[in-house]
Amino acid sequence: MRNECNIIRDILPLYAEDMVSPDTVSYVEEHLKSCEACRREYEQAKEPGRAEGKRDAVPLLKLRKKMAAKKIQTILLTAVFVAALLVSAFAVLDAPVYLPYSEGLVTAEPVGDGGLCIIFDEEVTEFDYALYPDPEGGSFYYCEVQAWTSLWDKWFSDKDGKLSAIVFPKEPFPIKGVYLPNDGNENICFYGDADYEGGIVLPRLSLGYYLFLAVAALVALAIAWLAVKKKAELRVCVERIGLYPIAYIIGHCIVSGFRTASYSLPRDFFLIVFLSLLLYSGLLLAYGIWRLKKELKESAPPYIRSSR
Ligand SMILES: [Zn+2]
Repeated sequence: MRNECNIIRDILPLYAEDMVSPDTVSYVEEHLKSCEACRREYEQAKEPGRAEGKRDAVPLLKLRKKMAAKKIQTILLTAVFVAALLVSAFAVLDAPVYLPYSEGLVTAEPVGDGGLCIIFDEEVTEFDYALYPDPEGGSFYYCEVQAWTSLWDKWFSDKDGKLSAIVFPKEPFPIKGVYLPNDGNENICFYGDADYEGGIVLPRLSLGYYLFLAVAALVALAIAWLAVKKKAELRVCVERIGLYPIAYIIGHCIVSGFRTASYSLPRDFFLIVFLSLLLYSGLLLAYGIWRLKKELKESAPPYIRSSR
């Protein structure tokens, strides 16, 4: 049993500091039950001052600090992960589902002195409009309308009845109501002049460029990483920076799927940036925890190394 006692006494200071794994705890406790000498040694180690005096307390203290940091970072990581999950769910549920034009989806009737009341069908849960004078100088106004719904609205909306809006032009000109289907089909004039020339709203492509930039940055950083692989500090720096393009790419996939064209660019871009920042802080935390774990493994005495 002599050999076992030696092992137990090596672990005792860590055991007294509550810094060993549950397996080691039960191993030590089992031994203490049956070994009087080690029990006495343990009682002494527990007394404040003694243990520190006997052993070099500094590495132990450092170890303890690192373990505390690991704990805090793990809690933060969980919080960030939950937040990212909520934002992702919101991004998916709130994504606009533009409605193709159909008879009666949107109608209009004149109100008051030159105003127009625009009325949407019940399936429309959100809409947007823009009223502006004819850019070619004609004596009329355009009122461009988009209408959409979302998974959230379909499942949880308690809106009753039809949505509507009333618009008034600044000058006493007639209004042409134009519906933008946002699906690659031609715009439709649902009110006013029949000789509407039409047009198509094209999706905006900026998200594709940003995604391309993120991938290019990732590739550049991967090359930089290979170049500085052997210089520990630079490598860590490159790895930390490299996590952002990764976070951005994941954010893009969650918000826009694999599409790069968008009919709701400001919304999508804002959500991607917001989500990517959350994910980035999560990845940084995970990276920090991983590094701490590695350091702890390297600085811990050999007998607790295997149990971690
Ligand atoms: Zn013993």
